[in-house]
Amino acid sequence: MTDKNYDIVVLGGAIIGSAIAYFLARELGGGRSICVVERDPTYAQASTSLSLASIRVQFSTPLNIAISRFGYSFLESIGEVLEVDGDRPDAGIKANGYLLMAGESGRALLQKNQIIQQQAGAQVALLEPADIQARYPYINTDEVALAALGLAEEGWFDAYSVMQALRRKASSLGVTYMKDEACGLEMSGARVTAVNLASGERLAAGIVVNATGPRAAKTAAWAGIELPVHPRKRSVFVFDCKERFPDSPLIIDPSGVYVRPEGEHYVCGWSPPEEDDRDCEDFEVEWNLFEEKLWPILAQRVPAFEAIKVTRAWAGHYAMNVIDHNAILGSHPEVSNFYMANGFSGHGVQQSPAVGRGLAELIVGGSYRSLDLSPFGFERFAQGRLIREENII
Ligand SMILES: Cc1cc2nc3c(=O)[nH]c(=O)nc-3n(C[C@H](O)[C@H](O)[C@H](O)COP(=O)(O)OP(=O)(O)OC[C@H]3O[C@@H](n4cnc5c(N)ncnc54)[C@H](O)[C@@H]3O)c2cc1C
Repeated sequence: MTDKNYDIVVLGGAIIGSAIAYFLARELGGGRSICVVERDPTYAQASTSLSLASIRVQFSTPLNIAISRFGYSFLESIGEVLEVDGDRPDAGIKANGYLLMAGESGRALLQKNQIIQQQAGAQVALLEPADIQARYPYINTDEVALAALGLAEEGWFDAYSVMQALRRKASSLGVTYMKDEACGLEMSGARVTAVNLASGERLAAGIVVNATGPRAAKTAAWAGIELPVHPRKRSVFVFDCKERFPDSPLIIDPSGVYVRPEGEHYVCGWSPPEEDDRDCEDFEVEWNLFEEKLWPILAQRVPAFEAIKVTRAWAGHYAMNVIDHNAILGSHPEVSNFYMANGFSGHGVQQSPAVGRGLAELIVGGSYRSLDLSPFGFERFAQGRLIREENII
């Protein structure tokens, strides 16, 4: 079999890989060859397909806020920017805030975060329990001391359609999508020279980008890189309730249990405390989680949820950066032609536009132009410049 040769090979073609491919193609204007290798074009187990696809400005890190603000404006514009042959995609944005509730012990953090968010241009209001009840009479505010509500640039969207729109646009700009599985990298000194594929094919590559989601650490290991990204399972439950609260925000209980409307239904879930969060490769739903943990909290917080019926559930994987729960972006300090877009820790679909744009700028021009994403570089671990995101959902 003859080798194929590409200037840039992106491993993984879901929302992050496709965002990078699209922005690269746009940036390069056809100047260099780009190939995206995706092992499963049905994306059945990709985090992107299994995501709740919500977007928020309520982060504690200014850079994450800026990333999501760009993400929101990009989603609003995709009909125009990702149009192909007159077909205008729609991100299906449902604009609605996150209502992040805290008990007394979390009050100071909400107040501190709101200042950071306002300084970063985000609109977030703090609500006392009486304000919450006036706006959302169906919410029980027992044990709630304060809540933060996003007033703009928050909501949820159709991540699968956005991924397909990015993929289609990238293809229309000359990017090759190849259905195959990467199974190794060839190195010459500290440079990656080729990607080996399960089909037996070999892709010689000038630059390789790792966008393999929860499996990113395995991919990086082929280049001798230890990436602190672990697959962590999250179960999501869909339920019906006779009472409808269609304009409900995405409610986050002080326990961390979240619920939001999804069309005529509701979706809910929870992230376990760090010490109980184990690496996981399977996609089995943790059914006991609903009965034992979620339902009692939901019914206490929204009494109408006492009478609900679970209609379906699924499990997906977060690509958890176990060191500081933030993205790991850019080239590796030693393997300089190996780029990473990994470790999104549960907030990657909203970050895909800014990450795609940033990585394309970095690869093509050698530095970030629009938004400086360098604080999320791999070097931060060795340099002790961790960026701890305090609002993890
Ligand atoms: C339950 C759940 C809820 C979430 N909710 C949100 C949310 O509300 N908001 C938000 O912003 N984010 C959310 N996320 C996180 C978000 O879904 C991810 O951060 C995002 O989808 C990451 O995209 P990705 O392209 O990096 O990874 P993925 O979508 O997992 O894509 C990786 C791709 O790489 C391919 N691949 C892997 N290995 C190889 C290989 N060796 N060769 C070829 N191809 C390979 C896979 O087939 C896959 O298609 C959620 C995730 C889950 C699981």
